Amino acid sequence: MRSNSTTETGGVTDANGCTLKGKGEANSISKMTLLACWFVVLGMTLPILALAVTPIAFLSLGTWQVISYSVVAMTVIFIGLYMALAVTLRCPACRRRFLIESSGPKHPAALKRAHLGHWGTTVLDVTMRHQFVCMYCGRLCRVE
Ligand SMILES: [Zn+2]
Repeated sequence: MRSNSTTETGGVTDANGCTLKGKGEANSISKMTLLACWFVVLGMTLPILALAVTPIAFLSLGTWQVISYSVVAMTVIFIGLYMALAVTLRCPACRRRFLIESSGPKHPAALKRAHLGHWGTTVLDVTMRHQFVCMYCGRLCRVE
């Protein structure tokens, strides 16, 4: 049961003037969301991969230094890009920054997977399923 099924939520149009295709409940969100989530996933996985290849340091210190400096540089770039996008992207329904988890109360319909929290769930859903439920208003948003 949806609580706020107002008619005014329709009429969402994209740049071409086309109304949102089917499934009127889902809000469409920019592809930048997908990009932002991949940036943060890469930014967090790269240092882990770098640790996995640490034994290279014993074989060739020079190669290891190149790898470690590149990993640090790429991580900083990815996280920086993610943060820049995270403050820009807002939920189309409630206008809040859905990639930044505040300490306040979350919507009861918001998804939260075990060990991930609301933020981790949003990032995972965007990268894997190209959609997420806004943690603040509980609306389903789909990357278009
Ligand atoms: Zn929202």
